[in-house]
Amino acid sequence: MVIAPEILVYLKTTETCNLNCRHCFTSGHLGKKIFFQPQPVIDFFRRLKEECSWIRSVRFVFHGGEPMLAPVKDLYQVHAGLDRLFPSTSFGIQTNLVYPLTQEKRDFLSATLLEDGLGTSWDHDIRFGSASAAQEATQRALWEKNVRTLIEEDGHTMTLMVSITKRLVQERDPAEVIEYAQRLGFSHILFERITSDGNAKLHQDVLPGNREQGLWLQRMFNSTLENKSYLKIGNMLLSELAEGFLKRQHTANRCRNCESSLLTINADGTIAGCPNTGPSQAWGHIGNSISENLRSAQRLRAISCERFERNPACYSCEAFQYCNSDCSKLPWDEDGDRCPAPKEIWTQMMTEKKFLAYEKLLLSDDRGRGLPHGI
Ligand code: SF4
Ligand code: SF4
Repeated sequence: MVIAPEILVYLKTTETCNLNCRHCFTSGHLGKKIFFQPQPVIDFFRRLKEECSWIRSVRFVFHGGEPMLAPVKDLYQVHAGLDRLFPSTSFGIQTNLVYPLTQEKRDFLSATLLEDGLGTSWDHDIRFGSASAAQEATQRALWEKNVRTLIEEDGHTMTLMVSITKRLVQERDPAEVIEYAQRLGFSHILFERITSDGNAKLHQDVLPGNREQGLWLQRMFNSTLENKSYLKIGNMLLSELAEGFLKRQHTANRCRNCESSLLTINADGTIAGCPNTGPSQAWGHIGNSISENLRSAQRLRAISCERFERNPACYSCEAFQYCNSDCSKLPWDEDGDRCPAPKEIWTQMMTEKKFLAYEKLLLSDDRGRGLPHGI
């Protein structure tokens, strides 16, 4: 059965959210108001372990919608049932932190996620006030307060996941965004591109053009090297690019292996690969047998398409050996002449060849691996 020995599992505890971001690849508060069932999830992974004994490492990432909307007792139950199940088992979460951080929630996060790191998403112009414009300032303040509480009082190591929206690239300086993350105490930052799924499919105006996005990322790359901001905050996207360039290793969204190394467990128990298309392209269910799931024709087709289907322009691109055609879900510009990859950075690396400088971008703690595929 085709499944990698190291897998990443997006465990969606609900399909709905307290926010309603226009760029989200799920459906915000319009998503189904359902919660996951912990015991069937645990049973599925027990069977997976028995039948695929070569799986040695699993990272479970609580996801949604907003994962912390689920009853905390269910989160404890699923954590207890999955913890230490595989030879290497770890947990993470992507949470919006725009909710009252009760003592019960803090206790759960401290008990289960202190060692592995906690991710929270941010964007320049959309999430705060997305459910109610009148609340924008209070929601931003609540988010900042929660971040500080978790870092300064509870001792969490946190990653800021920055969504690259159109207004971000048009209105914000990348160095300023990195400084903001540093000031709040984040240890890592990840820049995520937006796919055309869920809410984003309905709001194409939030997607930047690929060229303006590429130029903005190049400014981010240059300012990181000039300001030496990598000494203060780990930059996961730049680490992945440095790894691609220096070692020809295609990690995260350049792996073209997501469909065989990722499982997205939707809150209703259906299963998919890539989380961005998880709600719309499920190929299995946790109640079905492992072989029925892993051998489903739809899954095998998705694996094969991801590996072998590329824009033909990539084969004559000088950056191909480093880039590997990037993520298969990101759209090329409408006229088809510009890819969504950070091509300007690849070109600059190939031209300048500052190997020692790029080495400094590598994350020494291997943190880029096994974490959510930021795209
Ligand atoms: S890198 Fe692309 S294909 Fe892989 S999980 Fe992310 S969005 Fe899906
Ligand atoms: S930089 Fe663009 S054109 Fe070149 S390989 Fe990557 S995706 Fe393809």
